Amino acid sequence: MSGKKIAVIGSGVVGLSTAIALGLMNFRVQIFTKESIQSETKNPFFASQYPAASILPHSIHGLDLKKLFLPSKNIFQRLLRAHAPGIVQQKHYEVFTDQTPTPPAYAPWMNGFELHHSTDEKFVPKHPDFPVSRAWSMDMYFTNWPTYASLLQKCCFELDISVTVEDLDLQNITDRFSSNDYAAVVMATGCGFEIQNNHELYLLRGDLVIAKTSKQPVNPEGKVFSYNFNPPKHAYSTKDGLAQDVYCYPRSGELVLGGSRIAGRWLRQQWMGDEPSNYSTGDALEDPFWQIFRLNQEVLANSSNVELSEEAIIEMKTGYRYLGPQSKAKLELDSKGSLPILHSYGYGGSGVSLSWGVAIKSAHMILHLLQPKNSFAKAIETHFGHELENLVSSLTKKYESN
Ligand SMILES: Cc1cc2nc3c(=O)[nH]c(=O)nc-3n(C[C@H](O)[C@H](O)[C@H](O)COP(=O)(O)OP(=O)(O)OC[C@H]3O[C@@H](n4cnc5c(N)ncnc54)[C@H](O)[C@@H]3O)c2cc1C
Repeated sequence: MSGKKIAVIGSGVVGLSTAIALGLMNFRVQIFTKESIQSETKNPFFASQYPAASILPHSIHGLDLKKLFLPSKNIFQRLLRAHAPGIVQQKHYEVFTDQTPTPPAYAPWMNGFELHHSTDEKFVPKHPDFPVSRAWSMDMYFTNWPTYASLLQKCCFELDISVTVEDLDLQNITDRFSSNDYAAVVMATGCGFEIQNNHELYLLRGDLVIAKTSKQPVNPEGKVFSYNFNPPKHAYSTKDGLAQDVYCYPRSGELVLGGSRIAGRWLRQQWMGDEPSNYSTGDALEDPFWQIFRLNQEVLANSSNVELSEEAIIEMKTGYRYLGPQSKAKLELDSKGSLPILHSYGYGGSGVSLSWGVAIKSAHMILHLLQPKNSFAKAIETHFGHELENLVSSLTKKYESN
């Protein structure tokens, strides 16, 4: 492979996964980032400090999701097989109360997808006051995010991918990265470019409550489950009356309770858009954390062996899912200038879910451009999955034995 390096800007889930894919194809890779994924100080615009993180493609627009999601899911399956720390498969339920929606576009892509009608006898998580109108369930991959993020960093380390902390001027990339030293630049910068240029950001607000637990919710088959629960509008909605859902994802010792999905724009340091409603409950927690906690507490008590009290809360935080310029994700290679630049951002609420699909496609585009005759490019998906599985297996053994 060429002696020149590939610069990957951004150390979020997309930057790390893309760097690993390029590293496994023998490119020399260097990551640049303004901040670390595991930094103590949270930045609501650094989305990878927040994911829940289910492997389910929603809250994203502008890409062929099937082409990115299926290869990505395939890699998560391989990683589970390689006993990668932080990856599980669990039963996931999506439950509705005052609507009867048709199954989502991703239904055929999920293993074990099953539609439930209100008259169904089968178990679904329920709220005591709001009868179920429709539900579906599926087998879903899920990452225990802190553990998985650390695995991605270990893979980079193992592949000799260095991480340089630097706040880059994203408008003048070609001044910073000379084509004598670098063969291409990957901009996995989330909303960094937009922020630097004071452009309007299209975002989906997400609120999370992290609660400590010694038990995980299990269904009557004894399987750990997660859910999205859509209560009636009056129980949880925005000021403009847009219904909001809540969700619960178990991970070791904790429950991740979410979460709003409120669309808005951010311009000149200001949120411009809808906001959570005020529910004047008189309780200690602010909105929407109170709605998120209370509704989940009631569903869990009614449907599982988990009893939550307010004392269990260890963290409450708000982060933003970036939807890309004009609300559309961007995955495009610009090869017009002296230094090819791959733009890769705007993955909304699906950055983790699509991460490997995006990484494989990015590596493929770069390989095709820089080494058009390389036969590797043809079998990239299979070959990459195999190499990654081997890498993770050896890392898992190494860290288990330490
Ligand atoms: C509450 C919440 C829940 C979510 N749940 C899920 C889920 O269940 N499943 C799922 O798939 N997704 C989920 N997401 C979405 C997911 O977190 C994002 O899609 C994903 O993290 C985006 O990753 P990224 O690498 O593209 O961008 P980011 O994580 O934003 O990373 C951007 C990187 O670019 C760097 N950067 C920016 N500007 C500069 C600069 N000038 N110089 C140097 N570096 C720079 C930053 O420092 C950072 O390293 C959730 C998001 C939120 C907020």
